[in-house]
Amino acid sequence: MATSDSPTRKALRYTGKAKEVYDTDQPGLVWIHFTDGATAFNGVKKATIADKGRVNAAISAHIFERLEAAGVPTHLVATPGPLDHVCHEVEIIPVEVVVRNVAAGGLSKRLGIEEGTVLPRPLVEFFYKSDELNDPLITHDIALMMGWAEAWELAYLEHAALEVNDFLRDFWGEFELDLIDFKLEFGRATAPGQRGRILLADEITPDGSRLWERGTRRRFDKDVFRRDLGDLGDTYRALFARVFGQDLPAATGA
Ligand code: 5GP
Repeated sequence: MATSDSPTRKALRYTGKAKEVYDTDQPGLVWIHFTDGATAFNGVKKATIADKGRVNAAISAHIFERLEAAGVPTHLVATPGPLDHVCHEVEIIPVEVVVRNVAAGGLSKRLGIEEGTVLPRPLVEFFYKSDELNDPLITHDIALMMGWAEAWELAYLEHAALEVNDFLRDFWGEFELDLIDFKLEFGRATAPGQRGRILLADEITPDGSRLWERGTRRRFDKDVFRRDLGDLGDTYRALFARVFGQDLPAATGA
């Protein structure tokens, strides 16, 4: 919630595919602004999807607040507006963590497992976060050798990712959605007193998750856009309504 001593947004630091990161007037805090940008295949396919930013910002904040309460430290500090998160500044660890419960997407392609095959146990994979290299799959040893993370950090990432998976399976299950897979990013806090602490960062949204309706397998995630399965805006508004029990409020044009 915004309060009188809420940080204010300052200079733009970085423009991502679906978010912008700004400085704030408070050291150690950044301002993340969600946009309606949608990309797929490493930016090859691009569109603007009305309401996507508000849906993602609301869902990610809701999940991060629940995770924090459940004991998983996250970067989220406050939500000063429907498109905005104030967050602890972190140095992003360039290792993306994917957890899979059901085969789909990259795993199905790589190993020839039919999409929809339930895995015998959750699978954790590491990818190197690099647009130039197309986020290649990496091993634990590669991450160590390249100095991208330390051994204890990788152990923490894996442990935290499985904990988040347990939480998210129940969370999405309440809305009749099966969590097929998802991607997480973590960072090291930079603020004095917090230095080195690993925080769950970035976002948890249908952009970086696969969510299939139980029974019908209707997609409630960005595969709708990637694979031209329907209208992504309608899909995301329907997801918002399921999660919050009310329609997304009309846009104010702000
Ligand atoms: P896959 O490896 O099958 O393409 O992706 C596995 C899961 O991680 C999917 O839920 C996908 O949305 C997510 N994921 C992996 N890499 C990225 C990425 O660079 N951006 C986003 N938004 N999601 C990703």
